[in-house]
Amino acid sequence: MIRKALFSGSFDPFTIGHYSIVQRGLQIFDEIIIAIGINSEKKTLFPLDQRIDTLKDLYSDEKRILITSYNSLTIDFAVQSGANFILRGLRNALDFEYEKNMASIHRQLTGIETIFLLSDAEYASISSTLVRDFILHKKDISIFIPLKK
Ligand code: ADP
Repeated sequence: MIRKALFSGSFDPFTIGHYSIVQRGLQIFDEIIIAIGINSEKKTLFPLDQRIDTLKDLYSDEKRILITSYNSLTIDFAVQSGANFILRGLRNALDFEYEKNMASIHRQLTGIETIFLLSDAEYASISSTLVRDFILHKKDISIFIPLKK
């Protein structure tokens, strides 16, 4: 069986915290689909095309990663894309409380298991929200954004 995981999010923007989870995920899974969930209710700082292009560029040498977007329910997209796992990062207890409910519902509905990786301590306080705040206040955010290897 090919182990294919879905790593979904808004990635507005994709941070070194996300990157670290994906790098560690590559040690566990054969393929990872990084999928940007489109939520028309939610206004984003970076347009979808730009977020997609940035990710495609970042992972252009990594054949085991696929970049895409979806506007359905995450669990429906997981089934549609043939993922047999959902990959999530956990930063703190708040993440956990939310994620445990999602994981449980997803497994009940489809049998798809969610695999959680604990955030590295050094990345646990990084969020896309924090990076967006820095951008709005004209601060340098380069330390939060992954560089292509
Ligand atoms: P959403 O827009 O759905 O909140 P995000 O783009 O913020 O999604 O994050 C997607 C996934 O990445 C989630 O599993 C989230 O917990 C995880 N994540 C976000 N930031 C970090 C971080 N700094 N370290 C580890 N995991 C993270």
